[in-house]
Amino acid sequence: MIENWQRILVFSAHPDDEILGVGGTIARLSNLGKEVYVVTFAIGETSYSSIEMKGRMRELRLREAEECNKVLGIKERIILYKPNQGITNDRETYQECVKIIRKYKPDVIFTHYKEDKHRDHRTVWEITDEARWKAAENVLADFGTPWYTPELYYYEVIELFTHPSLLIDITDTLDKKISAMKTQSSQFPVLPGIIEYIEALAKIRGYLRGTKYAEAFLGSDFIPRLA
Ligand SMILES: [Zn+2]
Repeated sequence: MIENWQRILVFSAHPDDEILGVGGTIARLSNLGKEVYVVTFAIGETSYSSIEMKGRMRELRLREAEECNKVLGIKERIILYKPNQGITNDRETYQECVKIIRKYKPDVIFTHYKEDKHRDHRTVWEITDEARWKAAENVLADFGTPWYTPELYYYEVIELFTHPSLLIDITDTLDKKISAMKTQSSQFPVLPGIIEYIEALAKIRGYLRGTKYAEAFLGSDFIPRLA
């Protein structure tokens, strides 16, 4: 199944969400020569753990995101520079996402899920599920030609799925997922124990998958699949 994907688009509210949710899968896909694009809505300039860090947070997180791109093999990261805790489902952001989907023409999209404590995550879910539908409609001609993305999956960050619908084996790339997380050193004081969490979750999902490690996803039925 994943062998058939050529272009993969991942939406993440903040620069480490795609590592936690899809990091092992991204590394596996880029190893296979696939094109993985990540859209980061907010660079995470408010996630400083000490006042001294505040002024240089944006620059630091940009550098960390750049390092993460290298580790996971992300072809391009598109940063929208929305404010942290202030990503809003407005017309401009919605249309930006339509434009991005039409530009990169993904075979599959990964994005956040609605059941999440973080307001930014919920907003990204809401915008992107709907943008996938609008990108396929024969409207907004100046935003590119319509593109139907056949599949969209939600990924897990902290709130976990009771009944995932897709499990991807990441046995060979868990080490890259962990290395990618280690590039986000500014976040270690904010997320204590995060490396252990990644390992534990990969094991739990691996148990379900019947492999050593895995990542779990939930398929969107916001628009019907076409066959
Ligand atoms: Zn986040």
